[in-house]
Amino acid sequence: MAVRRPLIAGNWKMYCTRPAAEQLLTALKVQISGLTDREVVVAPPFTALETAARVLAGSSIRLAAQNLHWEPQGAFTGEVSGPMLKELGCSYVIIGHSERRQYCAEIDEQVARKVKAAQRDGLVPILCVGETLEERERGDMLTVIRRQTQGGLQGQEKAAIAALVIAYEPVWAIGTGRTATPDQAQEVHAAIRATLAAITDQDTADAVRILYGGSVKADNVDGLMAQADIDGALVGGASLQVESFARIVQFR
Ligand code: PEP
Repeated sequence: MAVRRPLIAGNWKMYCTRPAAEQLLTALKVQISGLTDREVVVAPPFTALETAARVLAGSSIRLAAQNLHWEPQGAFTGEVSGPMLKELGCSYVIIGHSERRQYCAEIDEQVARKVKAAQRDGLVPILCVGETLEERERGDMLTVIRRQTQGGLQGQEKAAIAALVIAYEPVWAIGTGRTATPDQAQEVHAAIRATLAAITDQDTADAVRILYGGSVKADNVDGLMAQADIDGALVGGASLQVESFARIVQFR
């Protein structure tokens, strides 16, 4: 059985100018120094990545981007590519976040191209999947989760799948203060792992880290992290406050 190193990632969304990023990360480094049994990642906006890389130099906190384009370069106004992110010091990239699916009309086919491009360019994708409240109430939750998981991994080799990270983020829990219960989250995480096993094999599925995201806070992280298939958290709002993010990182 694979040992999956817990991963806590902070998605800053469209928050933090460079001075704010510097302040937050300087404090965070101090608060969480010495933790070696878990991985910590922060995803500032593109404009703060270079500042973040400078502040984090020599620390174990890794850097993620929040999106990328699938082409390495070209006439794609407003887009940023994998090699550009790699050059800035990114190790991870969030792909298919529900806010991008919802507000930028991103579809599974684009998500799959981005996942492949990230791996081609040496970045670990954090592939986000999650159902809306309407889909859950209609009884379509697992159908949506399977479709997004399979769709985002279209055409991928087993080894590439084993190396990536999936984040289950129920849309109804993002930024709402309404968290999935540990049991609700575990049910979907187990379904994602079963989907991975069906498209690869059990060993590959067991190697993949599956994060939960959706109003993770200092006071609910421990219960979520106690679940068998929850390997970490993707944290939005609470990652912008040093104290709360540091406590989430130090889940027990
Ligand atoms: C997110 O942005 O991925 C997220 C989970 O946000 P929040 O923690 O604020 O719900």
